[in-house]
Amino acid sequence: MDWNLILIGPPGAGKGTQAVRLRDELGLVHLSTGDLLRDHMARATELGARVKRFMDSGRLVPDALVTELLLSELPASGFLLDGFPRTPAQADALAAADDVTAVVLLDVPDAAVIDRLAGRGREDDRAEIVAERLRVYHEQTEPLVDYYAALGLLRRVDGSGSTDEVFVAVLDALGAVPA
Ligand code: AMP
Repeated sequence: MDWNLILIGPPGAGKGTQAVRLRDELGLVHLSTGDLLRDHMARATELGARVKRFMDSGRLVPDALVTELLLSELPASGFLLDGFPRTPAQADALAAADDVTAVVLLDVPDAAVIDRLAGRGREDDRAEIVAERLRVYHEQTEPLVDYYAALGLLRRVDGSGSTDEVFVAVLDALGAVPA
């Protein structure tokens, strides 16, 4: 079947790692808004310049900017979104554009996130920025858990195990048989 999937979870939950494995397993187009935005910053585009202060401080880029960027890349079907939507307004915009098959929540407690990100070394992984990204996650993104649960789309997965364990749990939650 053709999946249109969303991965949500706090920063450091392993969304990017699981997304690559799921992309390969299910043959999906993987879109990470964080990667798209970092690419714009690296190329010093006009968009890159506009989003830099938000990304550097751990806050969300304004909905309109990130939604336009994501929708411009979205295939009609067979996609896996990692890091989008991050607000109910983004979820509404996506719903207007396409149908979502399932939403996987990678559930990882804050303390584990802080430990994991301490070892990653990305510019916005400094302790005070991580604290801000977690605060933003709980305040602005976590409402999506209820949003998608109400639509019957949410699949909650314990994201605190090893990469392999979590991958198996995600496939199981989706009812997808490994190739
Ligand atoms: P990520 O790589 O998903 O952890 O995203 C890194 C940063 O990019 C976030 O802290 C935000 O500043 C920005 N960002 C990525 N995706 C979004 C989104 N869907 N909405 C708003 N900001 C985003």
